[in-house]
Amino acid sequence: MRWLIFFASITIVCTSGQISIFDFWTDLFRPLPRNEHEGFVPDYTPEDFEEFDFIVVGAGSAGSVIANRLTEVPHWKVLLIEAGGNENFFSDIPIFAPFLSLTPMNWGYTAEPQKRACKDLRGKVCFMPRGKVLGGSSVLNFLIYQRGHPDDYNDWSRTGNEGWSYPEILPYFKKSENVRIKELRNSSYHGVGGYMDIEHSPFYTPLQNAFKKGGEELGYKWRDPNGEHVIGFSKPQATMRKGRRCSTSKAFLEPIRSRRNLKVTKFSTTMKILIDPSTKAAYGVEFMKQNVRRQVRARHEVVLSAGTIGSAQLLMVSGVGPEDHLHEMGIKSLVKLPMLAASPVSAGAYMAGRGPLTLPGGSTGLAFIRTKVSNDLSTTRPDIELVMGAGSLAGDLLGILRSLLGVTDKWYWQMYGSLPMEARQRTFSLNPVLIRPRSIGRLMLRSASYEDHPKIQPNYFDDPNDLKAMGWAVFTGSH
Ligand SMILES: Cc1cc2nc3c(=O)[nH]c(=O)nc-3n(C[C@H](O)[C@H](O)[C@H](O)COP(=O)(O)OP(=O)(O)OC[C@H]3O[C@@H](n4cnc5c(N)ncnc54)[C@H](O)[C@@H]3O)c2cc1C
Repeated sequence: MRWLIFFASITIVCTSGQISIFDFWTDLFRPLPRNEHEGFVPDYTPEDFEEFDFIVVGAGSAGSVIANRLTEVPHWKVLLIEAGGNENFFSDIPIFAPFLSLTPMNWGYTAEPQKRACKDLRGKVCFMPRGKVLGGSSVLNFLIYQRGHPDDYNDWSRTGNEGWSYPEILPYFKKSENVRIKELRNSSYHGVGGYMDIEHSPFYTPLQNAFKKGGEELGYKWRDPNGEHVIGFSKPQATMRKGRRCSTSKAFLEPIRSRRNLKVTKFSTTMKILIDPSTKAAYGVEFMKQNVRRQVRARHEVVLSAGTIGSAQLLMVSGVGPEDHLHEMGIKSLVKLPMLAASPVSAGAYMAGRGPLTLPGGSTGLAFIRTKVSNDLSTTRPDIELVMGAGSLAGDLLGILRSLLGVTDKWYWQMYGSLPMEARQRTFSLNPVLIRPRSIGRLMLRSASYEDHPKIQPNYFDDPNDLKAMGWAVFTGSH
């Protein structure tokens, strides 16, 4: 049996929820309104050996917030280092999310060939998109604002991370948020007045009612999935401001772009963290900008927020990782760490802030379900996220979505070729996402240089329960 991991979706022919090409083109070429707090963050090139109090590596979801909060202390001088540049007009348009992975805003990582997955993808490899831009993956993502389940954080706390239980971190979620969804503004789970705008796409499709009804028929409630209960059906909450993407760069960096103690160096790739071998303390970083290698020094701390792939790779090329593997790569190991199994890798209307282009990544419905396969002790924690797309791969007549996902033409025609052309355009999709995989992946270096992409081995479906859970989700979605 052949499995396509990223698009194990069921495609359903329908007669509504279409996005008009005409609306799209008309909307595309109107001028972009900008909020008074928005405006590109200036670029700064540090001197060689310049000193800062904190150096933050990576201006993504985490790094943007950290740089913002650290520079609230006026006498702390902070350098934020980002490999990419600015967002643009297209990345602001929520429905374009899937296309951004085809641009230089994506690092372009691919997974190693898989035994049990990705087989009908070009070259039999799965793409692993990651943002390389100010705002990081919050510029590439599908905008869905979904916190973890409370027990995810409670588990962190139970395993020794003091201060990270859900009751302890909920105030920070609320502080960071400016929820613009009317019925949630007084909710004790949401905040008003924070940097990050959260709203529903203002675009309505009749599919939403069908989705709600479908959920109710299956016994699920329509609810706020960031509220008391996660399991249920909902309209996706999105990191969006008046119908445009609200990346962490737009939310947390642009409003503070004139703080004098914040310096941001763009198109700057950190090659190594400088660590004192005797104290094991990080004292700076080495980075490349415009083909010039520079060093900068941190008086207090280096904060590593280069994303799940970048941070792991940077640590290893800097001498922190499994000793044997580093030795094999010719890197001097600074700390004796064993080889551990990693955690699971785990247009007009638009200009007015409305219309189909505001659908976050094209998604119009969101559901969290718990399959019969789940063995989670927390009985309220879902293992599957179902994302309803207002379109589907079946409607990809030009092959753009196929290129994006790396799906072969052969698979496409085998799957959808028998559907009439007209019907193929009138489709929607239900995409199951396994959110608590039991298979365990691994990330290893390819070489001692940060420039060589690491070997990413997700080991999809290594644990057969993962395939069972996906199968169960497809079955639920089709009834
Ligand atoms: C296609 C896609 C869709 C997604 N959809 C959703 C969604 O709908 N909802 C959701 O909640 N999550 C979604 N996610 C996941 C979410 O966006 C990420 O989990 C989150 O943005 C990760 O934040 P981060 O700070 O860890 O890393 P990132 O945001 O990736 O930030 C890392 C930053 O570090 C920079 N960097 C890396 N290496 C270096 C270096 N050596 N030197 C300098 N800079 C460096 C990168 O360029 C990047 O800007 C999606 C992700 C993707 C890729």
